Amino acid sequence: MSDFDDLTERMRAFTRARDWEQFHDPKSLILALVGEVGELAELFQWLPADSAATLALEDPLRTRAAEELSDVLLYLVRLADVLEIDLPQAAVAKLASSEARFRPEHFHGTAPVKD
Ligand SMILES: [Mg+2]
Repeated sequence: MSDFDDLTERMRAFTRARDWEQFHDPKSLILALVGEVGELAELFQWLPADSAATLALEDPLRTRAAEELSDVLLYLVRLADVLEIDLPQAAVAKLASSEARFRPEHFHGTAPVKD
């Protein structure tokens, strides 16, 4: 069993043990996911952009960022499970698409411009 499958199973068991499946419709899970992304963003909101990466290497920001990233991941895992999406497979397919779309010989050092 992969780490992703293990997380999916553990989140499913965590939810079932608390009878929270009734609350885990896609809309509610998406809002919870966005809320956790907001908590992550809040940690970095007023940090100077040029030093945020350095500050995130040390506590207390490192620990707090890990906690919020985990919240984001766990809701994402749960949402994919409820939607019956094989997220690792979908992510690999999406990355392959991006690799083909943004070929290094055309985009090296250049940010893609939205069409
Ligand atoms: Mg959180």
